[in-house]
Amino acid sequence: MSDTPPWSRSSLLCAKPFNAMKTQPRILIVEDEPAIAELVAVNLRHNGFQPVWAEDGESAQRELDAVLPDVILLDWMLPGQSGLALARKWRAEPRTRPIPILMLTARGDEPDKVAGLDAGADDYITKPFSTQELLARIRAVLRRRAPEQVNDIVIIGALQLDAATHRVNYQAQILKIGPTEFKLLHYLMKHPERVHSRSQLLDKVWGDHVFIEERTVDVHVKRLREALGSAGTMVETVRGAGYRLTAQPQVAVQT
Ligand code: CA
Repeated sequence: MSDTPPWSRSSLLCAKPFNAMKTQPRILIVEDEPAIAELVAVNLRHNGFQPVWAEDGESAQRELDAVLPDVILLDWMLPGQSGLALARKWRAEPRTRPIPILMLTARGDEPDKVAGLDAGADDYITKPFSTQELLARIRAVLRRRAPEQVNDIVIIGALQLDAATHRVNYQAQILKIGPTEFKLLHYLMKHPERVHSRSQLLDKVWGDHVFIEERTVDVHVKRLREALGSAGTMVETVRGAGYRLTAQPQVAVQT
């Protein structure tokens, strides 16, 4: 076995962070013009995002109540509540406050842009905009707002996780791991030796636990242990407190 395996550390380190495979970010498009919404949605889908369309503030609120998106694209001029009013409202609510808002506006003048940013928008983009510009701005707000999703390599003992290539390996063997278990493992590996309660894990890994039961964490921890195989014992249950990832003491680790 003299060939360098494709998952060798040096090739991982050379991986370009921004074209990385990862779970598709969900983008809520709040836009009353179907032609624009569809164009944006098609482009987002082609570029690895998961678009969801709402045509006004009310249906956007229903979407937000159901599942929190990773980014909101918010049109300024909407029937009913304006984009500006919606941005203010979502910034004032703790549940929606962390979601990046990118305002879409046909208005070009400076006072309006300032008003948008004052209302809590993270950025704005003036119509008509190019797809490339929109994608670049979405990626930028995602990077700024989601430090846990930043692509990197984490190593604990013989367990290695590469967020850029979405690979986990243990003792140089690649492990097959589901998307939620991957996110859970990533978080645990970035904060090893600490006990995390189920509700903390829901907060940090799922991002929003209003509609998710704490039991869900147990289900995914069980799946994670199964996926980890002999490294499964690294995920410890701390009775009455939660879970902890710890370097496996019984396995000799050469570094
Ligand atoms: Ca509009």
